[in-house]
Amino acid sequence: MRNELTRRELMVGTGAATTLGLLSTLLSSDALAVQEQKGSQVFVHELPKLPYPYDALEPVIDKKTVEIHHDKHFAAYVSGLNSALDKLAKARESQDFAGIRCVSDDLAFNGSGVVLHWIYFDTIGPKAGGKPEGKLAELIHRDFGSFDAFWKQFAEVSKTVQGSGWGVLGWEPFSKRLVILQAEKHQNLTSWGGMPLMVCDVWEHAYYLKYQNRRPEYVDNFAKIIDWKKVEERFKKYVP
Ligand code: MN
Repeated sequence: MRNELTRRELMVGTGAATTLGLLSTLLSSDALAVQEQKGSQVFVHELPKLPYPYDALEPVIDKKTVEIHHDKHFAAYVSGLNSALDKLAKARESQDFAGIRCVSDDLAFNGSGVVLHWIYFDTIGPKAGGKPEGKLAELIHRDFGSFDAFWKQFAEVSKTVQGSGWGVLGWEPFSKRLVILQAEKHQNLTSWGGMPLMVCDVWEHAYYLKYQNRRPEYVDNFAKIIDWKKVEERFKKYVP
């Protein structure tokens, strides 16, 4: 109920906020937790809880990296998104849109960062790896030829990001196909309309303590912690 109300409020916001509202509506029925606030701020995003202990992803990702990644980096994107939304609300209140270009940039960067980190931490876990099953497995086969062909493309896309970014497996509702996208930072090089299902964070903060410059080794090991059951659950929300 609270989320529904929040979404309705979002829909009457700016174009950018409307896009974000649609995104969070489409992403999941258990959308990111938000708190309503009175006054100019429409709502406040909350940092999702890490669904497992910090050391649960060992030895693929070390405890310290998970702790800093979730509690500091992810938290900073949540705070950056809230700050951008607050500035937008104040701009609407005062009808002063002088800083709108900068705020829009902050909204795209932090909003995308929040969504991608949420999916990242939610779709990896201990006792994971392997391959997807059911309809998702069928569509991976249909759209990429085989699971191995899918993984090879996904891993290459993730390994070859220039600088900081992501490999993304997404569902494209308008074409009803799975797609692999590469994102630089959080928001660049992506394609509108793809809903992220499973993502590989290749910012150095995701792997540097353990792997240093060996990003390809991190990406190869990442296959061992993808929780395909969680990816399938997410997929079923778009393709029942
Ligand atoms: Mn990250």
